[in-house]
Amino acid sequence: MPAFLSVQDLYVRFRTEDGVVQAVDGLSFELERGRTLGIVGESGSGKSVTSLAVLGLHDPRTSEVRGRILLDGQELTTASESALEKLRGDKMAMIFQDSLTALSPYYTVGRQIAEPYRKHTGASRREARQRAVEMLARVGIPTPALRVDDYPHQFSGGMRQRAMIAMALVCDPELLIADEPTTALDVTVQAQILDLLKDLQQQTGSAIVLITHDLGVVAHTVDDLLVMYAGRAVERGTAREVLRTPRHPYTWGLLGSMPRLATDADQPLVPIPGSPPSLLDPPPGCPFHPRCRHTAEVGGDRCRTERPTLGPGHGSACHLPTERTR
Ligand code: ADP
Ligand code: MG
Repeated sequence: MPAFLSVQDLYVRFRTEDGVVQAVDGLSFELERGRTLGIVGESGSGKSVTSLAVLGLHDPRTSEVRGRILLDGQELTTASESALEKLRGDKMAMIFQDSLTALSPYYTVGRQIAEPYRKHTGASRREARQRAVEMLARVGIPTPALRVDDYPHQFSGGMRQRAMIAMALVCDPELLIADEPTTALDVTVQAQILDLLKDLQQQTGSAIVLITHDLGVVAHTVDDLLVMYAGRAVERGTAREVLRTPRHPYTWGLLGSMPRLATDADQPLVPIPGSPPSLLDPPPGCPFHPRCRHTAEVGGDRCRTERPTLGPGHGSACHLPTERTR
């Protein structure tokens, strides 16, 4: 039996004027119901492109998606647009990175929550409106029966983010992908939203993918962690394994540059030198090698020529021996 969500050797490419962008390059991961997977990595590492691929939201005219994506045993990469559309309401939902662009300014918040519910359940307008009020209450909007008729601009940033969550959760999805759901919010609201997702998960047993560029956000929220770099998984394990005994030099770099996770208060924050590679022409071998301080330790030109693979369990796609620690 494959996992509830099983992504196998996923490739996503975009045709652009400058050439082909290899945004996701052979990515595999699994997620069971009731569990939360954190996907972390700097901006541009392919996190959003991966989520959109799972939801089947890439435009086939400009992109190519290869590999397998199984949701509860059903293959999504070859599913018809109408099958995907049905799944996107009933079974899987996404909280998008930017609530300002994801909510329409022209419709009331309540209507934007009620419409997908009506469409997927056949509920009446009145029932759907009642459901919208309920959902607003569930995500902690005060006086929901009044706020249901507000337009998005009448909501604060934190409230809009909650409304987005209400919209994503209105049909009780079994898979929820939350793409940087808290990035624009202050720390207190961030914590509230993450608690809210955990509560909802406990009520419904959903599987959650929580995407972020901030390891501090996921440390207390996720069961498993996948670290992405240049469209690939470079490290994977339980959150505890990856955060306590990180194995990939990129993960070391991420942890060293995070204020909230610096274990030793005296230890200065060290940003990772350099920047991620162009995905129009990714480096051969290990994609991290141009920024890595450990290539000499590996020896020869292995890092430049040989692509490291991600082993099972707590895996690290790196040529360093796995016992090697920071
Ligand atoms: P992030 O990890 O920050 O979410 P993304 O998944 O958004 O990164 O992007 C991964 C890479 O794919 C980036 O280099 C981005 O520029 C590129 N990309 C994303 N969408 C498109 C697109 N529609 N056309 C061309 N390139 C894209
Ligand atoms: Mg993104």
